[in-house]
This record gives sequence, structure tokens and C-alpha cells, in this order.
Amino acid sequence: MTKPANEKSGARIVVPVALEGRGYDIHIGRHQLCEAASLIASFAPGAKAALVTDEHVAGLHAPAFETCLQQAGVATTRIEIPPGEASKSYARFAALCDALLAAKIERNDLVIAFGGGVVGDLTGFAAAVLRRGVRFVQIPTTLLSQVDSSVGGKTGINSSHGKNLIGAFHQPALVIADTALLDTLSEREFKAGYAEVVKYGLIGDPNFFDWCEVNWSRIIAGGPERDHAVAVSCRAKAAIVARDEREEGDRALLNLGHTFAHALERLTGYDASRLVHGEAVAIGLALAFRFSQRLGLCSGQDAGRVAAHLDAVGLPSRLQQVPGGAGSTEEIVAAMTQDKKVKRGVLTFILARGIGKSFIAPGVAADEVRDFIEAELAAA
Ligand code: NAD
Repeated sequence: MTKPANEKSGARIVVPVALEGRGYDIHIGRHQLCEAASLIASFAPGAKAALVTDEHVAGLHAPAFETCLQQAGVATTRIEIPPGEASKSYARFAALCDALLAAKIERNDLVIAFGGGVVGDLTGFAAAVLRRGVRFVQIPTTLLSQVDSSVGGKTGINSSHGKNLIGAFHQPALVIADTALLDTLSEREFKAGYAEVVKYGLIGDPNFFDWCEVNWSRIIAGGPERDHAVAVSCRAKAAIVARDEREEGDRALLNLGHTFAHALERLTGYDASRLVHGEAVAIGLALAFRFSQRLGLCSGQDAGRVAAHLDAVGLPSRLQQVPGGAGSTEEIVAAMTQDKKVKRGVLTFILARGIGKSFIAPGVAADEVRDFIEAELAAA
């Protein structure tokens, strides 16, 4: 079983992302903000920085970070956006680009994304196109962004046609995951991010899933288990991204549960009071395993274990748990077929032959999906 071997001391863990010419390190540990500022200063001497954050994170953590940056000699301009998925919009993107230009951010300066996945995705996209590309640093402040969205260079915004449909690949130059920042995260947001942690065990690391089943409450409580979970997740993501930066193959495995999840988010209008991304992913993970079971690929025991773990943590695992209802079979299937992972009307799913044995299944028949969703909605 995976143990936080060298990670007990609370020392900083460094996970490299090996990309030819665009490689970078992910630094993980508690109370890293002043070290982050020193790293930024040494990595880009003389550069000024725009610190992009959301109003919520700004109130909690920006002054402390700005003090560290100031002490390290990095001049910063703070740019705040409203919290929430609605900020991944054309209007907010345009306003951010203009604010970065007004702050006179040049090609050799830095843009720092200091927030959750919303801030990271929006800021990364602005950095990708501003003056045809400026360097950006990710300082993720949610569990979801520390284990997933800050790593790998996918940036973007949403369109009325769907989530993340407008974007660019733009790798960060540095990622610093200060796990102490997660202490102020609401329990709901923390658990939502935990769904992405579990995902790595389900994709390809059954020992990590075993470890999560035993240690999940310690991950929430903080301490070495939290750092270990972030490090294992980042190593898994870094390995996949290094193999397939542009999602031409293996990287699609990271979408386990996401075809279902994106449909549920669309059907609930991206309304965080009903469903946040990680909660949609939790339902999607359970559905992916039950769908695999239905197709005769995965044992009922494994599918049951996945749902039982999500239930134990307090995450949703069924369509019936979507507040206000998920919608009808037809609505759910229609929302799924709008997903960008659909090629010529045929669905590509990430399915599983068991825990830690996920694989890419192109060409899943729409009828199979429809019958499965109908059965799920009919289940008590
Ligand atoms: P988020 O950025 O909306 O943050 C969730 C909430 O937590 C917000 O209200 C925010 O203000 C608050 N918050 C952030 N840090 C906090 C802290 N330390 N203490 C207290 N509150 C804090 O949501 P998220 O779950 O981090 O990210 C979701 C987004 O990430 C989605 O848009 C999703 O599409 C995207 N995503 C992108 C990738 C990628 O590879 N680029 C991968 C997965 C998800």
C-alpha cells in the first residue's frame, strides 16, 4: 500500500513535468508562499508580475502573498475577478487582457494565477495570447487546482456551446501548491477536489485507491497525508502529460467520468449552488464504473467499491443526487453528445476493467449510453 514515505517530514516535494523545452517543476508543501515569491524572483529576475486572483481568495490570502513578493523584490499589480465559473467568459477574458495591458505586462514579465481552476484557466488563456504569449506561474489555492487544473497547460474559457471550448495549450513556467492554503477552503469545495484525487487511483493506481480508502479523512484534516495525496496526483498527471501533452492519446484517460460530469454541469447551468465541477466528476466516476459493469467490462464489486468510497466521503455518486434533478434521459444524452469528446456523433468514453484499469473506448454506441442512463434514472 502506498505510504507517504519521504513525505512525512513536511518538507517541500518537487515533482518535475518533463516536457522538451517547456518542462517545469511543481513544488508541494505547507506554507510555501514566501518560498514561492523567492522562486519567482530567482526564476525571472527583474520581471514585474500581475497577480490575478478572485475576490474571495484575495480577501483571504493575497495580502500575505503580496508581502512575500514585495520582500523578494517582485513588483506586482493585483487584478481581481469575481469568483465562480461565470468568470470563464469572453467578457471577463477581454477585461483581463485589457487589465494586463494596462498593468504594462511585457513579454519578459510574469502573470501569476493565484486561485482555483477558474482563475488558473482564465489567466492561463490570457497569458497564452497576451502579446502572443507571456510566461505564467500557477499558485493553485483549491485542492482541485492543486491536483489537476494547474498542471498540464490546458487553459480556456466556456462558450454557450459548452465548457472549455475556447482555449489554448500554454504550459505554466512554475507551479507552487501550498497545501496550507487549503485550510480555508470550504468542506464542500475540498471534497469536490478530492474526487479528482480519487480519479488518479481509478485510472491507473489501485494501491493509491486502497490508500485513499484508509486515509481520506487525514487528507481533509491536513498534514503529511494531504501533501502525499497532492504529490501522487501531480506525479500521475505529470507522467500522462509528458507522454501526451496535446491529448492525442493517453491524456484522454484524465477525462474519466468527465463526459457525464460536463453534461451534468451544463444541465445545472454551471450553478455552483446546485453542483460544482468536482461533485459532477464524483457522479461521473461512479457512472463510468457502473457503465463499465453494465458492458461486462468491470466487476460489480469494483463498481460498488467506487460508489461506496464516494458515499463515505460525502460526495454524490448517483444522478438522483443532483439538486433539482439531473434531467430526463434525452436531456442527459443530448448534453453528453455536445461534449467536445464526441467525434462524428460517436461517443468516446473512458471505461474501466477494474479499479486502476481504465482505458479509452472510442465508438461507444449512443443506444448503449441511452439505455444505461435510463436504467440509472429508474434505479431506486
Ligand atoms: P474555483 O476556481 O471556482 O474555486 C472554487 C471556490 O473556492 C471559489 O469560490 C473560490 O473563490 C474559492 N476558493 C479558492 N481558493 C480558496 C481558498 N484557498 N480558500 C477558500 N476559498 C477558496 O473552482 P475549482 O474547483 O478550483 O476549479 C474548477 C475549474 O477548473 C472549472 O472551470 C474546470 O473546468 C477547471 N478545470 C480545468 C482543468 C485543466 O486542466 N485546465 C482541469 C480540471 C478542472
